[in-house]
Amino acid sequence: MRVSADTARCEGHGLCEEVAPSVYELDDDAVVTVAHEEVPPELERLAEAGAQVCPVAALKVIR
Ligand code: SF4
Repeated sequence: MRVSADTARCEGHGLCEEVAPSVYELDDDAVVTVAHEEVPPELERLAEAGAQVCPVAALKVIR
């Protein structure tokens, strides 16, 4: 599983990072970065939960 982040869409609210800090991180400009190109199986549920809370739908789960 992978997660793609639309950084142009990200508004830096940080909800994804709050839910899944091992998957999503905000950089110094408050733009989301994804820690793993390929999400490890044990983090998949967290990655999905983080993507779902994004208020601007900037995170997409790809299977
Ligand atoms: S929740 Fe969405 S808008 Fe907020 S930091 Fe994460 S990707 Fe960006």
